[in-house]
Amino acid sequence: FVTWSCGVVVYPRDGTDVHTLLKHADTAMYAAKEQGHNHYAFYDPSMSVQVTEQLALRDELRLALEQDQFEVHYQPIIDAQTGEVGSAEALLRWRHPQRGLLSPTQFITVAENSGLIAEIGRWVLDQALDTAAAWQAGADGAVTMHVNVSAHQLRQDGFVDEIRTLIADSGLPSSVLDLEVTESVLLADAERAEVLLAELKAIGVRIALDDFGTGFSSLSYLKHLPVDMIKIDKSFIDGIPLNVRDCALVDAVLTLGARLDHSIVAEGVETEQQRDWLVTHGCRYLQGFLFSRPVPRAAFLSLCQQRFDVAPSLEASIGF
Ligand code: C2E
Ligand code: CA
Ligand code: CA
Repeated sequence: FVTWSCGVVVYPRDGTDVHTLLKHADTAMYAAKEQGHNHYAFYDPSMSVQVTEQLALRDELRLALEQDQFEVHYQPIIDAQTGEVGSAEALLRWRHPQRGLLSPTQFITVAENSGLIAEIGRWVLDQALDTAAAWQAGADGAVTMHVNVSAHQLRQDGFVDEIRTLIADSGLPSSVLDLEVTESVLLADAERAEVLLAELKAIGVRIALDDFGTGFSSLSYLKHLPVDMIKIDKSFIDGIPLNVRDCALVDAVLTLGARLDHSIVAEGVETEQQRDWLVTHGCRYLQGFLFSRPVPRAAFLSLCQQRFDVAPSLEASIGF
C-alpha cells in the first residue's frame, strides 16, 4: 500500500534558488503529512516554525517516557439498564512540566509519526490492565477496559502476541480488554485489518468501532469485521434531541446495532435531555461528562462503587 504526501513551492515567492525552494518544499511536505496520508500543502513561512515545534515535541515525548510524565485517566461507561459502571475507557494524559495536563489530541500525531506510539501504547495497555485488575477485585460482575489503539500499533509485527502476553500477565480473562479502533485505521489497510481483528477475536479480546459515523462508515465493515461494539461519535449526540437529522441517524444506528447484535455506546453525553432520549430509544451504554469526566485511577475506582441516575424522566418516556 503506497500513500503520498506532497509539498508545493512557488517561484519566486517561496525562494529564488534551488536550495531554498527544495528546503521549503520539504517543510510543506511535512505539514501535508501532519494532515494524514494523501494530502498536499503549499508552503507558508509559518510552517517552518511548526516543523521546528514538531521536532521539539518529539524530543520532549521521548523524555516524557523516560521521566514517567504520562498518566492514564479513566472515564466510566454507564450501563443504562442498571446505572452501574460496567466498562471504562482508558485515556492517555501527559503531565507536561511547563504546559500542564495535555490531552492526546495535542501530541498523538507526533507520537504516531515518530513511532513512539508503539512504546507509549504498550505502557497504556499495561496501566489499563493493572487498573482493571484492581477494579475487578472489588466488583461483583465482569469488568471491561477499553483501550484506544492507533494504526501504527496495529501495523506492528507481533502486536497480537504482545496483547496475549499482557493479558496473561494480568491474570484476567481476555474478554476484559476491548480495543477501540476507528474506521480510518481500518480503512488504511482493510485486508490486513480484517486478519488482525480476527486474530484478536480468536484470543478473546473485544473490538469496538470508535467515532462511528465520522469516517467512511461502510456497511461492508459491519458485514466483514468481527466488531462487538459501535461507539456513536459525539458529533451526532450533540444534536439530540432537537436536530431531526441527528436523531434519525442515531436511531438508525441503534436499530442496526440491535439487529446485528452489536452493543452501542453513545459518546459525549453531556445533558439529561440527551441521556433521556438515548435511553428511551434503546441505547444501553452511555459515556460522557454528564456522568463523569475522565479521572485518575484512584478517583475512578471509587466512582465504580457508585450507581448513576439513568431513569428517563416522565416526560421523556411519554414524549419524543
Ligand atoms: P476518543 O477515543 O474519541 O475519546 C473520547 C474523547 O472525548 C476523550 O478526549 C474524552 O475526554 C472526550 N469526552 C468524553 N466525554 C465527553 C463529553 O461529554 N464532552 C466532551 N466535549 N468530550 C468528551 P481525550 O481524552 O482528549 O482524547 C482524545 C483522543 O485521543 C481520543 O478520542 C483518542 O482517539 C485519542 N487517545 C486517547 N488516549 C489514547 C491512547 O492511549 N492511545 C491512542 N492511540 N490514542 C488515544
Ligand atoms: Ca476511543
Ligand atoms: Ca470516540
